Amino acid sequence: MISRRTFLAAAVAGTTTALWTKGTHASSTTTPTTSIDAPSELGLSVQPTRVFKRTSDQNRLRTEYWLFNLMLRSPSQDKPALASLIVNGMSHGQVVRTTSWTAQAVAKSDLLAAAPMPAKEGGWLVAAFSIGDEVPVALAIDSVRCVLEFEDVHGRQRLEATVQLESYAQKTSLVFPFKGNGMITQGGAWNDGHRNRSGMFAIDAIGLTGLYAAMTAAGDASRSAAGWGRSIIAPAAGTVVVARGDRPDQPVLGVSDPAYFVAEFPNGGDPGNHVVIDHGNGEFSAIDHFQHGSLRVAVGDRIVQGQALGLLGNSGDSNTPHVHHQLQDGPDWTRANALPHAYANGPRQQHDRGAFFSAD
Ligand SMILES: [Zn+2]
Repeated sequence: MISRRTFLAAAVAGTTTALWTKGTHASSTTTPTTSIDAPSELGLSVQPTRVFKRTSDQNRLRTEYWLFNLMLRSPSQDKPALASLIVNGMSHGQVVRTTSWTAQAVAKSDLLAAAPMPAKEGGWLVAAFSIGDEVPVALAIDSVRCVLEFEDVHGRQRLEATVQLESYAQKTSLVFPFKGNGMITQGGAWNDGHRNRSGMFAIDAIGLTGLYAAMTAAGDASRSAAGWGRSIIAPAAGTVVVARGDRPDQPVLGVSDPAYFVAEFPNGGDPGNHVVIDHGNGEFSAIDHFQHGSLRVAVGDRIVQGQALGLLGNSGDSNTPHVHHQLQDGPDWTRANALPHAYANGPRQQHDRGAFFSAD
């Protein structure tokens, strides 16, 4: 579970490249003055720093979709009066789709409408928007231009940011991190799921019995969950670069108690016991929430695909025994970028919340 503010805090921490350009123009009602060429230090930034498109063939509609965050930074906590947002879908430099947000829509969509938050660099975040779209593949949209207009003491201003959309070609062939029946309980950001920088394409899955039952006993103990203790296996070969197994499991189903989080993540996002595997090609698997004391690998181990890593558990920020898996472009999940991925078995392309699967 990640709140909007946690999400944005993660976004701020992870922003390394600002894809923004700054421009001003005088509206017809404003008389330009010579002293104000750069009337403000407001700036736009985009998170994540690489935005990948995903394709969908649901209902045999060949579509692709994307999601990123557009953030307005200010040198002070003061927010200008937001006037409009125009989002252009571009294909080879031509506008092929335009979405216009009125002032009312901009205000409603501002994730920071209630309060600004300090940014690590560049002052304050005073407004933030999730910009997403799903369009026919045939439009071949390869970039998105966002133009935010606002009024401040200098009159009508505009800021522009252009985001390149990339298609990611997964290099590593992955098997699902457990065998048997399961269900996706949380998918990526486009599916109202994980939203932090390295987890935007992550999955959470619970184990189910052969008859697709989620529980094998009454009560609210972790061991009553069908997936508890299931073997978690390496999605692909590689070298173990992170391995932590000393964290306690959450004792009560349905409750992710912060008392069991590590000190670094008091507000959530704690992966608990976790392993990161370097697949040797710029791709890394992060696998989280192992059972306390169950890890069978250590940093430096060379492992093969399917090798047992440990047992499905309920450690860290978790309210039911489950496995979390994400593909990322570096060893440190707090700094890496998320990479879209699919499995050769199990849920394959269906990473939506509530999707049942069988991984053999
Ligand atoms: Zn997760």
